[in-house]
Amino acid sequence: MAPAFTEHTSEPAVYTTDVLVVGSGPVGATYARKLVDAGIEVLMVEIGSQENPIPGEHKKNAIAYQKDLNSFSSAVNAELNLLSVPTTPNVFPTTEPISFSSKGTIHNGQNPRQDAFFNIPAAGASRTVGGMGAHWTCCTPEEHPKIERSNLFSNDEWESLYAEARSLIGTTREAFEISIRQQLVKRTLQKAWSHTGREFLPMPLAVKRSKINFDYLTWGSPATVFGNITRTVDRPGAPNFTLLPEHRCTRIEFDTYSNEINGVLGRNLRTNKDVLFKAKKYVICAGSVLTPGILYNSGLQPKLPALGRYLSEQIMTFCQIILKKSLIDEVPRDPYGLGWDKIAAEHHKKHPSDPLPFPFNDPDPQVTSPVSEKFQWHTQIHRDAFTYGQIPPDIDQRTVVDLRFYCKTDPHHDNYVEFTNDIKDTFGMPQPTFHFQIKDYEAKRAHEMMLDMQRVAGDLGGYVPGQSPHYLPPGSALHITGTTRAGTSEHDSVCNKNGKVWGTNDLYVGGNGVIPTGTACNPTLTSMCFAIVGANTIIAELGKDAKK
Ligand SMILES: Cc1cc2nc3c(=O)[nH]c(=O)nc-3n(C[C@H](O)[C@H](O)[C@H](O)COP(=O)(O)OP(=O)(O)OC[C@H]3O[C@@H](n4cnc5c(N)ncnc54)[C@H](O)[C@@H]3O)c2cc1C
Repeated sequence: MAPAFTEHTSEPAVYTTDVLVVGSGPVGATYARKLVDAGIEVLMVEIGSQENPIPGEHKKNAIAYQKDLNSFSSAVNAELNLLSVPTTPNVFPTTEPISFSSKGTIHNGQNPRQDAFFNIPAAGASRTVGGMGAHWTCCTPEEHPKIERSNLFSNDEWESLYAEARSLIGTTREAFEISIRQQLVKRTLQKAWSHTGREFLPMPLAVKRSKINFDYLTWGSPATVFGNITRTVDRPGAPNFTLLPEHRCTRIEFDTYSNEINGVLGRNLRTNKDVLFKAKKYVICAGSVLTPGILYNSGLQPKLPALGRYLSEQIMTFCQIILKKSLIDEVPRDPYGLGWDKIAAEHHKKHPSDPLPFPFNDPDPQVTSPVSEKFQWHTQIHRDAFTYGQIPPDIDQRTVVDLRFYCKTDPHHDNYVEFTNDIKDTFGMPQPTFHFQIKDYEAKRAHEMMLDMQRVAGDLGGYVPGQSPHYLPPGSALHITGTTRAGTSEHDSVCNKNGKVWGTNDLYVGGNGVIPTGTACNPTLTSMCFAIVGANTIIAELGKDAKK
């Protein structure tokens, strides 16, 4: 098959394979890795381009971003296309009357049907090999068994699924423990909250610190999950795996009489020619908004009343602090007996003009206080680059800590995304429109979270000018769930616990949309758990049928 960067001029009109996986994000990668390891032939179709010679690699593994994390914000910004942008006649109230005006334009996600009041304005998608997993923050916590997690699997099953998912993506709590600032932030909070029993722990992160160069990190990504199955300049990849970038999955085609799947209609976006993908099983992992869009485009909406419904998105609060002077002044006195006195003295000797005791390569803090019955929100007390929160160039990044708190919303039938075919998105797929509103009790919970974030921030320092506590626009978490939720009946779910879509034989969905419950923590690890179950089901179903 054609290599990633060629023009596919002699492309076949029909591809056949065992399993077609749509989407190369962490969830598509999980399906692919498991199926390929089981000897099953997999063709992965991805609408985005392969920008890195290692398919699905994290962009933050580039040295330049590791040297200046702040600069990664613009990379994340460039990655995200907004999904629904309301356009109204009063967008340009002060434009000259001589200029063009209209009731609403419809280009590149502009959506005159989107009521701004019900929108999820920051909801976005990354169309690139690796999906959002090529830029994500790699926080990989587990859902709280009582507050977040669904009971579709037993506790034992969840435990073993999480263990497998963690090993696929490479989760650790160790990579930042060596940092002075990590220990300072963690221990300061542990001390301040010791009377409450609240935990402050190292963040579980999909990341590996280099053994040769202490400063270099390899962030976990779909590339980590793929392992050796993808082709790179250094290796041929698995013979039973092909990744086809810049190919759109347009719709699933069903036989009208038998309801069997005839194939998936796709399009090569370089040549603009249609192709047909024929497989024994089809797995759609195109993200939590674009996956239901593909199902809608395939005419499945009437058969799946829950499609796009029960949409949840977390409410996010954010602030940035500059560490207290008293905390920084303590460091050379080595308050915890960790040898900071020697490190600070050595640093001062090398750089006498640096007013800070932290070596320049002291890793950033990565601390969390996990969701608990008393504090029902996920917390990230750390430094990382997002589309917001860039630090002004004249503030030393070593003094700054970000606080991101995430509060769940619950799945409600009347929170949903719907699709229309008369307006298309940037890539020619049905335009999504959001209908989302937070309930009063959820707003109250978010307010408690905001007060809590202020207390935690106050333990650490004072606010960076312009970054005092505020709510982020809905969708900023990029953790939409529920839109293709797993469950036990087609009335309130789209697929069963194995990811198999109700009323179809060979169609599976994967991704955050499958998560059926309100979740406060980052969802990717949990979505990988569902993908592991789905892949195991397909492996069992295909059995000896698969091409070896
Ligand atoms: C700034 C940022 C920080 C984040 N931090 C975290 C974090 O710390 N922890 C966490 O758990 N999550 C985090 N996330 C979210 C995380 O990246 C997603 O949960 C995860 O990527 C979802 O994986 P996925 O495979 O389901 O979907 P995606 O990663 O969205 O991948 C879907 C893929 O499908 C492709 N696709 C879409 N439509 C089509 C089509 N019609 N045909 C073919 N291909 C198609 C897309 O191009 C994309 O590559 C973050 C995201 C961002 C952007």
